[in-house]
Amino acid sequence: MSKRRPSRLSGHRGRRLRAIIGRRDGVRCFHCGVPFASTDEATLDHFVPRSVWCYDRMANFVLACDPCNQAKADVLPLGLLLVLQPWLTGRTQEGRAA
Ligand SMILES: [Zn+2]
Repeated sequence: MSKRRPSRLSGHRGRRLRAIIGRRDGVRCFHCGVPFASTDEATLDHFVPRSVWCYDRMANFVLACDPCNQAKADVLPLGLLLVLQPWLTGRTQEGRAA
């Protein structure tokens, strides 16, 4: 049985992407705040899971440690879920006015 590994986007593209995100967010796990000695230790995590939003946009990547990345899997972060909740339940302001 194989275990799904978090995306590291190996090679030059992955290193460059992690370095850019490290400058943007800091060289630490986005979820638990554990610092990395270098961005090479980090995994790339899709903030919005690919199962929900399948585009690889820079804005959707964060650095994460292995345990956080694997624990999060395809689950939406709570803050994002609360923002999307009105649309998911069909209770937008437009919906109330109609
Ligand atoms: Zn973490």
